[in-house]
Amino acid sequence: MTQNYLPPRIHLLAKPTGAICNLACSYCFFLAKEALYSGSRFRMSDEVLENYIQQLITAHRSSQVTVAWQGGEPTLMGIDFYQRAIKLQEKYRKPGMVFENTMQTNGTLLDDEWCRFFKENNFLIGISIDGPRELHNAYRVDKKGEGTFDRVMQGLRLLQKHDVKYNVLTTVNRVNADYPLEVYRFLRDEAGTDWIQFIPVVERINEEGHTLYQRGKTVSDRSVQPEQLGSFLSLIFDEWVRNDVGKIFVQTFEASARKWLGLPSGMCVFEETCGIGLVLEHNGDLYSCDHFVEPEYLLGNIMKKEISELAAAEKQYRFGQDKRDSLPHVCRECKVLFACQGECPKNRFLTTSAGENGLNYLCKGWKAFFQHIDFPMQIMTGLIRRGYPALEVMRVMVLEDAFSQAGRNDPCPCGSGRKFKRCHGTRKKERSI
Ligand code: SF4
Ligand code: SF4
Repeated sequence: MTQNYLPPRIHLLAKPTGAICNLACSYCFFLAKEALYSGSRFRMSDEVLENYIQQLITAHRSSQVTVAWQGGEPTLMGIDFYQRAIKLQEKYRKPGMVFENTMQTNGTLLDDEWCRFFKENNFLIGISIDGPRELHNAYRVDKKGEGTFDRVMQGLRLLQKHDVKYNVLTTVNRVNADYPLEVYRFLRDEAGTDWIQFIPVVERINEEGHTLYQRGKTVSDRSVQPEQLGSFLSLIFDEWVRNDVGKIFVQTFEASARKWLGLPSGMCVFEETCGIGLVLEHNGDLYSCDHFVEPEYLLGNIMKKEISELAAAEKQYRFGQDKRDSLPHVCRECKVLFACQGECPKNRFLTTSAGENGLNYLCKGWKAFFQHIDFPMQIMTGLIRRGYPALEVMRVMVLEDAFSQAGRNDPCPCGSGRKFKRCHGTRKKERSI
């Protein structure tokens, strides 16, 4: 009997326009994928669309179904396409099933009509924006090489005007990584978002000098450096943990808190195994992961085999388990393994000092970040475990700052009236990593 590896839930990203986009962001790993389907029109047909929706519903064992649209630029399909997708969701809906449609877009093609459609159909929109104008325009350019900041902001303002739910996805690259607080404050205060996803740019360059496949041991000069990533996230964390807990949701910080609580992080990169985030190309080809749209990771085509069968195949199960099984020894012995899990396999192309392959390019950055947040995370999770709200950590951190800045002969910040050196100045911070 063939073993069935279908996980309880799968997450599927559909790319109805494949790699096609109206912009040409310099670091976009997906634009190069056009070469995989040369001669294609890059438009999902109605036949593929109907099969996709019907099979997605069949493959779900839960009543919550996320229908995630991505690209390329998914708005290039036009509103009609998504109207048909909504009708199909109604047609195949099982009793009690609830859908959430999400779309990741560069925002530049949005208008009032799109926003009315999103609002009416309860879409959650992810806007790709890399920070204030100059930082965003460093790499997010159109086909003429011109910055897209103003057009993205115009789209974002339209979403706000129509009260459409949105969040932001910000890449962390060689340029904006040196401006963490400028980026964070911009996203919070100017873009007006309360949910932020940071994605490190790591563009591998293979022997032929291009970035089509996840091969090669060097990175492009647009890629973030590991130390940059560590300090970028740490500095933003310091601001967040003192001011914004419970108000602003930074995906990496939320995932970290869950790890410190011993819970699943909600981010594949920080899980022990992966393999439940698949990608559907415009023609029905299903791949193991968004970052592995390569012939080797093609699971099959949904016009020939059901999604539930392809997602449950041993090939996909192995892909997910390999994440854990291929960890080098330095990771297995690492004190922050519980949080990092060696991060994403696509970034594991360094050799350790002992000569073992598979160390993550971003290792130094992740290690520095997880060590940096250990103390506040211990406080926050301690509060949560005792039934207090997580945001109490902000008050504790303010006190911590006062204690750490107090001189030996200053009055103790606790208010005892004694000198710091005779009161809390004798205490040492508990650190476990
Ligand atoms: S390969 Fe990386 S991005 Fe893909 S599912 Fe695994 S951890 Fe996630
Ligand atoms: S911090 Fe580095 S050594 Fe530790 S688990 Fe992550 S990649 Fe491995």
